[in-house]
Amino acid sequence: RLVPIRRALLSVSDKTGLTDLGRALAERGVELLSTGGSARALREAGLEVRDVAEVTGFPEMMDGRVKTLHPMVHGGLLALRDNDAHVAAMKEHGIGGIDLLVVNLYPFEETVAKGADYDTCIENIDIGGPAMIRAAAKNHGFVTTVVDVQDYEGLLQELDANSGATSYGFRQRLAQIAYARTGAYDAAVSSWMAGALGAAAPRRRAVAGEVKQTLRYGENPHQQAAFYTDGTGRPGVATAVQHQGKELSYNNINDTDAAFELVAEFAPEDGAACAIIKHANPCGVAKGATLLEAYKAAFDCDRTSAFGGIVAFNRPLDEETAREITGIFTEVVIAPGASDGAMRIFKEKKNLRLLTTEGLPDVRAGGQTLRQVAGGFLMQDKDVGFVGLDDLKVVTKVAPTDEQMRDLLFAWKVAKHVKSNAIVYVKDGATVGVGAGQMSRVDSALIAAKKAERMAEALGLDTPLTQGSAVASDAFFPFPDGLMEAAAAGATCVIQPGGSMRDDEVIAAADEAGLAMVFTGMRHFRH
Ligand code: 5GP
Repeated sequence: RLVPIRRALLSVSDKTGLTDLGRALAERGVELLSTGGSARALREAGLEVRDVAEVTGFPEMMDGRVKTLHPMVHGGLLALRDNDAHVAAMKEHGIGGIDLLVVNLYPFEETVAKGADYDTCIENIDIGGPAMIRAAAKNHGFVTTVVDVQDYEGLLQELDANSGATSYGFRQRLAQIAYARTGAYDAAVSSWMAGALGAAAPRRRAVAGEVKQTLRYGENPHQQAAFYTDGTGRPGVATAVQHQGKELSYNNINDTDAAFELVAEFAPEDGAACAIIKHANPCGVAKGATLLEAYKAAFDCDRTSAFGGIVAFNRPLDEETAREITGIFTEVVIAPGASDGAMRIFKEKKNLRLLTTEGLPDVRAGGQTLRQVAGGFLMQDKDVGFVGLDDLKVVTKVAPTDEQMRDLLFAWKVAKHVKSNAIVYVKDGATVGVGAGQMSRVDSALIAAKKAERMAEALGLDTPLTQGSAVASDAFFPFPDGLMEAAAAGATCVIQPGGSMRDDEVIAAADEAGLAMVFTGMRHFRH
């Protein structure tokens, strides 16, 4: 069913492309209706426009809260053109049909992201816009609804392909997009209010996002998948710019996120840092005076696993580090910027994906994480738990030296980003063994130590790098056995939450082995 577009209502906050669209529609003989600011912009571009206020017979009022909420508008959007009673009602009340609605909403999400005050956020909740979008989309049998600047071009193509009309399939697709937009919009309002209320678990929770990219497939080729943005515009993988390389896959995105969130734990002003991730777990994390130093040290933790890894930096990528990275197969590199020299070097490696952002993810910023379970989903605050020097409690006879303390805190930050059970060995500001995702803490300690032994062989060292290392455990040692594995691997100091029933036993074992141990009082499970 082709429906010719004779009359359009344009009411947009984001005026990008508005006058071009208005002109293109006018050239195709479409009559234009519009609201205050949009009408002004169209008129300034020399186009003929009718004000909605003239159509409704009411001025726009209450600071724009009431502009289009009127039967002359909503009747024009909702009337079924093939229903005699509807057509009669239009005639009786002098309601003209609106065949095309172009609306984008007050920038609520952007207003929140800018940190605006409560009242400003409230004023930026669009009421008339969503009402019109929902009305027009419901009546997609006859009305075309455009809610996104990106769809202007497609609309004009559709009109040209159908002599100024749109097809049913086209209108239906746009209607689906329209409801996704109003759904996401209200979800954003509700999430913001939940935050403003400080309610950890509001009774109802709306979750919505906007598709950024349909993915080739999900975790496996037989799973369909898509990548959504949540509208917050925060620095991170969802808002990063990709400069080169193939499209990111589902697993790439997941791993890149893990890498960037981890490296963001290390403030750039405290030194350069690098994290290399495989299957969402770090296989090397290091600090250094330069990015190159940090990258090399991270790479030396587990060279075997780093092959085909995802690399994240806490400072803009420089040329010498870029050159070093091209020496081995790497899937993705993400950093808060990249120098021209670094970009030039990467150009030679067409498949290497380079992503840059405006800044690092804010690891202290709140937010929620979401996980689906059968019949529901789990929602929790992001783990923004932080432990500093002053929070640590020395529980052994021996206290860690300043140098050991630095490595312990480094290991602790890394452990937060390793799947439980997590055991992380660190020496001189670099991981030297990471044990991840085991069902037993003892096994994590063992596996990490074994990998360190293998690396020592590869590097031609007499002793594994775990000798004299600091070790972190993401949760308490329930028995002394896990701790003893770490001691056997050569760890000399330990950081762990404490709080086990058998803490006394574990502390006694640490003292016996001459270890220095600190408790954080906080755990970092990550499943
Ligand atoms: P303009 O810049 O044209 O004056 O305003 C355009 C914006 O107003 C659009 O974002 C549109 O969604 C919104 N809008 C249109 N009608 C109404 C209404 O009746 N109430 C409110 N609150 N917003 C409206």
